[in-house]
Amino acid sequence: MIVSDPTPSAPGEPSDCRDCGVLRAREFASQKGGWADHDTFLPTAWKRLECVRDFRPGDPRAIQLLRCSGCGAWFLYRAQYEYLAGGSEDEQLIFRLDPSQAEEILAGNLERIPES
Ligand SMILES: [Zn+2]
Repeated sequence: MIVSDPTPSAPGEPSDCRDCGVLRAREFASQKGGWADHDTFLPTAWKRLECVRDFRPGDPRAIQLLRCSGCGAWFLYRAQYEYLAGGSEDEQLIFRLDPSQAEEILAGNLERIPES
């Protein structure tokens, strides 16, 4: 298992916030049943984000609008769940949103949600 570097301050890092600064513009993680060695996970910083709107409560294919309480940055969280015969497959994505995107999504404009 590869342990990711806890201090990835890549150039162009959108935020130096101590809560969410570690999250890049787009974070992706996936887990496949039976392939634990290949599993990746989102940086744990995303768990500190506040859920502003849960568009699919209780659905494993979640869509949530999240906000950092430290700096007010907006994020979109999407989860995919695929049941496959060889083992289930989970994917999670987090995107940074600019405030106008977040506003449109809050207004119910879900087609503004980035797909990937
Ligand atoms: Zn922040």
